[in-house]
Amino acid sequence: MKITGNNTQILQPPGLSRELSIKLNCCGVNEYTKVSYPVKYGLFSRLETRDYIFEFNLNHEIRHVKSKKRNWRHPSEWLKRTMGNEWVYYSTGGYSGVFEALGEYYLPNLTYPTNSLLGGKPFEETQIDNIVRNWPRIISQLPDTGISEEFSLWIQSIRQQSPEGLQKKAEKLFDISGSRVTVMPPDARHVDYNIIPLTISDGCLYKCRFCKIKNKKDFSIRSKQDIDNQIVGLKQWLNKDIINFNALFLGEHDALNTPFAIILRTIQDAYDAFEFHSSYMKGNFLFMFGSVDSFLNAEKTFFETLNSLPFHTFINIGLESYDRATLDLLGKPLTQAQVGHAFAKIQFINDTFPNIEITCNFVIDETLPDSHYKGLITLIRESTNKTKPKGCIYLSPLKFSCPSRPALYDFYKLKALSRFPTFLYMIQRL
Ligand code: SF4
Repeated sequence: MKITGNNTQILQPPGLSRELSIKLNCCGVNEYTKVSYPVKYGLFSRLETRDYIFEFNLNHEIRHVKSKKRNWRHPSEWLKRTMGNEWVYYSTGGYSGVFEALGEYYLPNLTYPTNSLLGGKPFEETQIDNIVRNWPRIISQLPDTGISEEFSLWIQSIRQQSPEGLQKKAEKLFDISGSRVTVMPPDARHVDYNIIPLTISDGCLYKCRFCKIKNKKDFSIRSKQDIDNQIVGLKQWLNKDIINFNALFLGEHDALNTPFAIILRTIQDAYDAFEFHSSYMKGNFLFMFGSVDSFLNAEKTFFETLNSLPFHTFINIGLESYDRATLDLLGKPLTQAQVGHAFAKIQFINDTFPNIEITCNFVIDETLPDSHYKGLITLIRESTNKTKPKGCIYLSPLKFSCPSRPALYDFYKLKALSRFPTFLYMIQRL
């Protein structure tokens, strides 16, 4: 056994190194970055067999796996298990096309219906299905005798994290706030969706007709006691792996409509409780959704305070359309003027506060009237004659399970005209 720096310990049994190699406490990359090769973040442990590579978090829970066999789709492609205990297949999809469309060098392929315009059906492929079903069996066959105690205990610990146990743990996560995060902000891509979900308010203001992720809850604010309980529960849930987190998501669908004193107090309490100051990952990130009303109501002093916090904050606002006819069609109870005011204020906030980025969503669909696209061009091209480095515009396909070449073509046309970073919004749950 070799012991390397930073507590990394390596087991490569003589003569068996091709069959089994374990690396405990690996130090992955400590800053989220966008590169065209697979990057592993945080502190984790790695188990390599002749045919597979598995990675586990600090609670001994599986988090990544890939096959080394010839029939694996691509050596740079991986499976990731999410906090909600679902597998996501990260495909390269021919890097440049994916980066252009999503702003990331990988394409997350999900097991449930979403509005993605890209990707295939990797979970229908035998080698991927096999690994998702059979990883516990592969782990159960590893030798845990004849090796040093530390590695033997570690193997026993990873075996205890069975698929059933991991599912129960995911349900516990949903119970902490009372429900699953059914949609993560698009900006969470900047931290590979590794967010701590803390709900400060439920529901949303508009209950738009087109929206597939809304719930029936009227907008309501959580009590301090409830938020405090969630923080305690989340800290226990994350356990040793908490050191790998540096990003907070304030839920639910319009956290910005929560009184600002509660938002700011919660951010501070979460920062302290989750010990973000000593996270292994560099920098701190804060994500939330807002609505046109909550955003227009937010005063400059609120953004000044937010900007002074030790977070890079992303607030995502659903504008959907700058066209009266389309807003009516979508059942979004807003006027074109309100959307225009919100868009102008977004530019002001983005230009003024370096630690805040307000992003916004618009829908796209072949069936929408031309006036929708004219309105969109007015905002994303004609409203400014300079190319803007921040203030992402996310274009969100209306239809689920309907990858469409014409829709993708429309997206690329809009992207080419836009003076803002412009990407597709692929809806993902936690
Ligand atoms: S789009 Fe936003 S505001 Fe409208 S129903 Fe969905 S969550 Fe609510």
